[in-house]
Amino acid sequence: MAHFTYRSLYINFAEHLQNAWNPNMYYLEAPNRWSVEDWKNYFVMIKSFGYNNFEFWISPTLFDRPALSGKSPLHENFKREMNEIIKVGHEVGITLLGGMCANCVGPGWYFACPKGKDDKKLIFDLWNFWVSSFPEIDSFSIGPGDPGGCNRNGCNHETFVDLAIEITDQVLLKHNPDMKPFLGTWGTPFSGWGEDLKYIENWDGTWAMLTDPKFATPETPAHIWNGKRERAKKAFEYLISKLPKFPKETTVIINTGMDPDTNFTMGGSAKKYAREIAKTNPITTWDYSLSEGELIAYPHFRLPRMSTKMREWAAAAPYKGGMNYTMTPKLSLMTQYVAGQIMQDTDINPDIAAADFFEKVFGSEMRGLGELTEAFEVVRGWGYHPRNLWSKEMLRETYQEIIDMLEAADPSKCTLPIFPDPETYRQDLLWFAREFLKMAGENCDRAEVRKEFWEKSQKIYDFIPMSCDPRAHLAADNFSKILEREVSWSDPIC
Ligand SMILES: [Zn+2]
Repeated sequence: MAHFTYRSLYINFAEHLQNAWNPNMYYLEAPNRWSVEDWKNYFVMIKSFGYNNFEFWISPTLFDRPALSGKSPLHENFKREMNEIIKVGHEVGITLLGGMCANCVGPGWYFACPKGKDDKKLIFDLWNFWVSSFPEIDSFSIGPGDPGGCNRNGCNHETFVDLAIEITDQVLLKHNPDMKPFLGTWGTPFSGWGEDLKYIENWDGTWAMLTDPKFATPETPAHIWNGKRERAKKAFEYLISKLPKFPKETTVIINTGMDPDTNFTMGGSAKKYAREIAKTNPITTWDYSLSEGELIAYPHFRLPRMSTKMREWAAAAPYKGGMNYTMTPKLSLMTQYVAGQIMQDTDINPDIAAADFFEKVFGSEMRGLGELTEAFEVVRGWGYHPRNLWSKEMLRETYQEIIDMLEAADPSKCTLPIFPDPETYRQDLLWFAREFLKMAGENCDRAEVRKEFWEKSQKIYDFIPMSCDPRAHLAADNFSKILEREVSWSDPIC
């Protein structure tokens, strides 16, 4: 078995991933706000699941010029609220890690160029502002991008490393000389820097131009994930040569593979680089799509692959731990529980852990929900690598079983300190089981399903600005298409 000492839970509450189960950290008058008491309950839950760190992203909407005035309600509120959250986390025994992309600015997602004088000043002003805003925080991580990065003015993978050294020296250590920073390598590595980013002649640094379909080519269908193995080699060699310039206890975040699913396409395997870096620095993983990807909110079941991957981490290099990500912290309770268990003992059987979870929430007669809820893992999207393929007939039967069990489940039997309360959780699972049953049936009214999903999950966007990455609409479209067609045994898995 392996026991990881660093077990992190990451809620990505960025502006493009808002939904009913994610906290709204931006707009006081809009739905989905969490009180400090809610945060306390959440931290008590994840602590009981086995986590000892919580991480959050100071997303581009926050990493923006109005913050510097000290008078912007959105930015000032986030600052005040996050300081309260940091305090509550510490009371519960959770450390907190704030993450920022090195250079992605504002709700329009502008990729500031560190080789431009004004842009560089803006980058450092914003880093200084946010780092000085959270005096009690445990540490910060410097992320390369996604969104973020640069290939203007000759910027490449080396530029990111050099920028990270300057941010560490001139900002992080200035505000806290004892800080043990985290350095992200997410991407192929270093998402968005140099050759990883799509090249557009005379690009203005904006997300809008970067993702304009007229600049798409067959070779670069996505704006990032274009780095190859040779570049990965050069990038890691450069990083390793510069590591002595970071504080000795800087944790390097490095996955075992260099593509969106931590597989070996694109940048290839990163295991030998992880082993090399581990000779001088602590290392941890950031295996983002392992738990739930990033588009449609639904109760994921990616536990078998999660278990396999965590064992792979443990065998590959002396990782101190890893991260479990969610954009649905009030829904993905089972995944958060099982990931927390496996991080403490990689030999734990994920199916048994899932059954244990439902026993602890709804009583021993509900253990079967652990097995049945695998039927939710039928949504093709980022990180979808199912263990089993299901016929619609099997699914209909299984969703009905889930409904029957949940209708009989008694939330008063809950022995775990879960957030939200077990009755709310039961009702949410029931909602999904009923929607999935409808979509597995004949003559499903897909337009109606889309409306229902919008009301249930995405409604906050009726009250707040749509993100420049308008995936809230795409999520609703794609939810309504779930199980549109029968799955065949000969279908490619993903
Ligand atoms: Zn640049």
